[in-house]
Amino acid sequence: MILTYKIKHGMDFSDELSKAKLVAEHALKTKSRSSADVADIGLKSMISNQILKKYSSQKKLKRISNVNLAIPNQGIKCDQIAREIYIPCLNLRLNYLFPNNFSKINQIEINKEYCMIAVHIVDVDCLKTDGFIGVDLNTTEHIAVVANPSTGKVKKLGKKCYHIHKKYSRMRKHLQHLGKFSKLKRIKNRESRIIRDTNHKVSRAIVNFAKQNNKAIVLEDLTGIRNNKKQKKSFKYALHSWSFYQLRQFIVYKAKLLGVPVIFIQPQYTSQMCSRCGEIGNRQGKTFKCQHCGHVDHADANAAFNIAAKAWLIADKTEIAAKGTLISPKRKCA
Ligand SMILES: [Zn+2]
Repeated sequence: MILTYKIKHGMDFSDELSKAKLVAEHALKTKSRSSADVADIGLKSMISNQILKKYSSQKKLKRISNVNLAIPNQGIKCDQIAREIYIPCLNLRLNYLFPNNFSKINQIEINKEYCMIAVHIVDVDCLKTDGFIGVDLNTTEHIAVVANPSTGKVKKLGKKCYHIHKKYSRMRKHLQHLGKFSKLKRIKNRESRIIRDTNHKVSRAIVNFAKQNNKAIVLEDLTGIRNNKKQKKSFKYALHSWSFYQLRQFIVYKAKLLGVPVIFIQPQYTSQMCSRCGEIGNRQGKTFKCQHCGHVDHADANAAFNIAAKAWLIADKTEIAAKGTLISPKRKCA
């Protein structure tokens, strides 16, 4: 697995960056891959080579705006004990705080402000899990509701995200109306930082919960829903489009780092079905009521139990079944 970390370099590379742009323009125009052709531009050949490789094969790109400096693995020295990265050709030293669990640095890209460090992480063996926790992701109220059918425990996470989205959406509309665009951009950035931070915390809590309970994580496969044209226009879709997607990505990669399996199930009926008797019930706001068995539950918790239960239907087709012993879940009935 490859993860990318971003750190500020605090240097002025404007000269190198403008040279990089010239190299990229040359590559795009001539499709040349030879660094001898661009030697007169004066960029280090190791960096030129990376840029030539990237831009000479671009077919659709017509105009180049920003070109990053790209340093391959051979041009990077890394001392994992001292937590120091050294790039000799730029005389750049960086100290890093991100986890030391990588086997090598694949590449570093540098722009005006940041270094994007792509590290290779050796895959951890999948844990032998003995069941599933269902995770229901939402755009209203709590962004994630987790249910563990074997204990009946429910965890509700990230309530403030919805309020942050609403608050910032109002602020954005107001600023747009006033035409204060630079302030609008600042507000947007601040909102993304807060949501990102919450998504990190929520995904961490979900993955830790799964690991502690020795369970695989079950998520809804929403690829079909995300492409739904009707939803694209709605306010809810605006939430879906990045913060929702980001949270899912965080869960998946953090799970992978700890060897916690993640399973995707089809989302049909997960919110309408009663998690106790399997009949279709009534959902009103955040309350779920089943007329058939009288079960009453928080709607998202009911959905999360359904999500976990659905994984058992496909469990025999997944690797988890082969690796772990599956024990039928005990349902907690209200
Ligand atoms: Zn029921």
